[in-house]
Amino acid sequence: MNGVWELRALAARQWWPRPELEELQLQRLRRLVKHAASEVPFYRRLYAGAGVGVPEITSVDDLRRLPVVRRQDIQALPGEDLVAGGTNLARCIRTRTSGSTGVPLEVLSSRSDRSVFNPSFFRVYLAWGLRPWHRLTYFQARPETLRIRSWYEGLGIFRRQMLFSLDEPAHWIEAIRTWRPHLIHGYSLTLKLLAEAVTRAGVDDLRVPLVVSTSGVLDEVGRTMLRTALGAQVVDIYASEEAGSVIAWECPRCEGYHLCTDTVVAELLKDGRPARPGEDAEVVVTNLSNFTMPLIRYEQGDIVRVSDRTPVCGRGFPLIESVCGRAGDYVVLPSGRRLTPHPFFLVLDHAMGVGCWQVVQEAIDHIVVRTTVGAGLERADVEGIRRGLAELVGDGVRIDVAVVENLRKSPAHKLRSVVSLLPESPIQSEA
Ligand SMILES: [Zn+2]
Repeated sequence: MNGVWELRALAARQWWPRPELEELQLQRLRRLVKHAASEVPFYRRLYAGAGVGVPEITSVDDLRRLPVVRRQDIQALPGEDLVAGGTNLARCIRTRTSGSTGVPLEVLSSRSDRSVFNPSFFRVYLAWGLRPWHRLTYFQARPETLRIRSWYEGLGIFRRQMLFSLDEPAHWIEAIRTWRPHLIHGYSLTLKLLAEAVTRAGVDDLRVPLVVSTSGVLDEVGRTMLRTALGAQVVDIYASEEAGSVIAWECPRCEGYHLCTDTVVAELLKDGRPARPGEDAEVVVTNLSNFTMPLIRYEQGDIVRVSDRTPVCGRGFPLIESVCGRAGDYVVLPSGRRLTPHPFFLVLDHAMGVGCWQVVQEAIDHIVVRTTVGAGLERADVEGIRRGLAELVGDGVRIDVAVVENLRKSPAHKLRSVVSLLPESPIQSEA
């Protein structure tokens, strides 16, 4: 039920005037920083070491006096260090994520911290015309999530179909034809595979009004394919587990993406200073909902382009121009089948001992996984990784796992989780 109240609040807030949203953001930020600095050992040390003391935050700009937190700074720390004192670790919700960077991180949160996550997506769906009686289709890479149902589905509201992203596209097409969803939500590269399969099969009666793409850059080729194959309006949502909600989303009326200033602080930085319109900026997020494991000035590892447009829709959220730099490649199997980076996350993010990882497709029958060993761990479970990946890619592909000292050329070097050295895949050259 909390989700309903949260969604009502979120839906109302998007129309607040910008100064009121900024005031709310500042209040939440001050409460969070004060809480983290007094209750969380990691931030106590970090802020003391930086000579910041208990920080006085009087404006969002004051955040820049605090150090940036990087994935690799915290990934190997014990949970007790990162959560507020008195947290019962056994009762926390744990989500593992490496975004598109190949550096796994476990985010701990409580049910109430996470109550904003799903509603933050529904706010976007509603803005694009989804109504409670419409049906939805979700692509899921984790088999255990395929059976998840929400209580409201029993009332005929926002009923969902879950499709397994490792199934054959022909199976997806049949399932979608039967379910007739109003909206399909999935990972950008999975949606491209769907659009391509629909086109190849010559299916021209599949009509889906809305396709929502998330995690990963949705390029123009993918957008056009989805529009043509499904007759869909295509919406890109930029969200992350670390931010605990949608960070930015495409508006039906404005040109660009709205930044959700009510649930996150997204700093857009170029060499540490605020980026100017038209510049590509690094995203540093502060999750305003997670009081269990606060993430303050967390380096998200994504790049966005800053905009100076004023919204025309009446929403109080500022705009950014585009989201880029979240690309990962497909891995192509000898059968011609393409795998998105997602199933690789599932194997490598959960493997013991892994610090950072990168999958490189050297040849159609040869994959090399390079991994570093996480701090405090003695060795990566090389055999476990090899077994997990062999299961994923099947016979006929050689898998080498190499444990290396360092994956980055320099501290600023951004990793990409899945890199293909094959000539450009057919899906990208069909534009
Ligand atoms: Zn707008």
